[in-house]
Amino acid sequence: MAEKLNLFIGGSLVQSDTKSWIEVLNPATQEVLCEAPCATDKEIEMAIKDAKDAFLSWRETPPPERSRVMMKYQDLLKTNQDEIAEILSKENGKTFEDAKGDVWRGIEVVEQAANITPLLMGETVENVAREIDSYSYIQSLGVCLGITPFNFPAMIPLWMFPMAIACGNTFILKPSEQDPMTSNKLAELFTEAGAPPNLLQVIHGGKDQVDILIRHPEIRAISFVGSVPVGQYIYKTGTEHLKRVQSFAGAKNHMVVMPDANKNKTIDSLVGSSVGAAGQRCMAISVAVFVGSSKEWIEDLKNEMEIVTPGPWDSKESGFGPVISPQAKDKIIGLIERGKSEADCLIDGSKCEVDGYPNGNWIGTTLFANVKTESEIYKTEIFGPVLLCIEVSTLEEAIELINANPFGNGTSIFTASGRAARKFRHEIEVGQVGINVPIPVPLPFFSFTGWKQSFYGDLHAYGKQAVRFYTETKTVTERWFEEDEESTKNLTINLE
Ligand code: NAD
Repeated sequence: MAEKLNLFIGGSLVQSDTKSWIEVLNPATQEVLCEAPCATDKEIEMAIKDAKDAFLSWRETPPPERSRVMMKYQDLLKTNQDEIAEILSKENGKTFEDAKGDVWRGIEVVEQAANITPLLMGETVENVAREIDSYSYIQSLGVCLGITPFNFPAMIPLWMFPMAIACGNTFILKPSEQDPMTSNKLAELFTEAGAPPNLLQVIHGGKDQVDILIRHPEIRAISFVGSVPVGQYIYKTGTEHLKRVQSFAGAKNHMVVMPDANKNKTIDSLVGSSVGAAGQRCMAISVAVFVGSSKEWIEDLKNEMEIVTPGPWDSKESGFGPVISPQAKDKIIGLIERGKSEADCLIDGSKCEVDGYPNGNWIGTTLFANVKTESEIYKTEIFGPVLLCIEVSTLEEAIELINANPFGNGTSIFTASGRAARKFRHEIEVGQVGINVPIPVPLPFFSFTGWKQSFYGDLHAYGKQAVRFYTETKTVTERWFEEDEESTKNLTINLE
């Protein structure tokens, strides 16, 4: 019998009473790692009630005290980085080094949450009218909710709950049912860091659990990361229920290759950013746009891509791991087959096998050239180790092509020309731009700023925007009278 994964409610792991369980599989072997519960309505209700009760005292906790919990937490995450990465690798499939990176990029956000106090400072203006002063406070919201995808089981939950909680809120996390074990470990360490019980609750399950959570009257704000259809659904339903929602969705990210770029750096960056993590990154480069004579490098790109192969998480030889599920593998293979009739397939990874792992969800590196923007492989987010090459004559054409794409998560340009780079970063309609940097995920003092169909909402993840998202601003206008001050009636809106 597989181990039953617990919920995390009230500051500890608790066994669910549910009759409905989801198998969590090792994607390299299909071995059942555990069964995750689909939390019952009663358990969800209990978690939200406990979170609401905890909020009432946590919001009174001074920000420096909240910061101290986060300081201890980031320290514990660093000490336990390898252990978390191992849990993550087993359930997600990514290589151990990449899994450590997944944890690390989350730790960086916790470091930001540990320095929350300056970000919670309000504003003051003296004498907004004669002898009247105005100032504002930043106050917490209440119970916030996070719904996260499978592809970054540590980093994306850590984008959310540390910032929300440091801002004085409490948090319900509903991680992906495909790799939910990492979240339990993150929650256990949070309690070990001294977080009072009930600040963070982990509710497991799928659509049914999400549907209850996003409609619940006590949930004030929803952070979602995942696919486009679900992202749109969460945004529409959450806002319909009058909640604040930030919804990060799918992507199709382009890298522009200028003929004056450093060739070796460009090719290595293209390989790493397209097939790393089996292409299952929302910021993965999935389209290379070769400008002018740079198209002559496609042959070299092919040679470099061919030598990178997938394998199990704990082998140093593995360039990347399996894709998350047999269903994901089937979808990607279907798209590769489709691509063969739409473009030139230079490398076909659809028949990939890995010695000793006959049941893994393996897809090898795959490269298409002469891809047209009308093709299905261009229009669809493949989310596998597949790179598409498009050739254009000028930088203007490349910019036009990228701006016509409905997604706007990330993009980059490789060039030696400051002039070309400036033009690109200024004119491109994408929220995160790299210049000779293939995956420009911002560090947490900035925010993660996807655009267009890659994001629904107004305020983005982490950084100053997350503080705005997880708080309210209260503005005070204040006047003090002399004891014997004369009075007249003011019948206007003017401050007098
Ligand atoms: P997904 O949309 O299938 O699942 C995300 C979460 O939503 C999970 O917790 C899941 O349980 C829940 N969910 C799934 N179907 C639902 C439904 N019908 N109703 C309510 N909830 C539902 O996404 P995924 O496959 O886990 O993740 C991959 C996707 O996430 C890709 O499209 C990728 O681009 C995107 N992503 C985006 C970003 C970003 O920052 N823009 C970051 C990471 C991943």
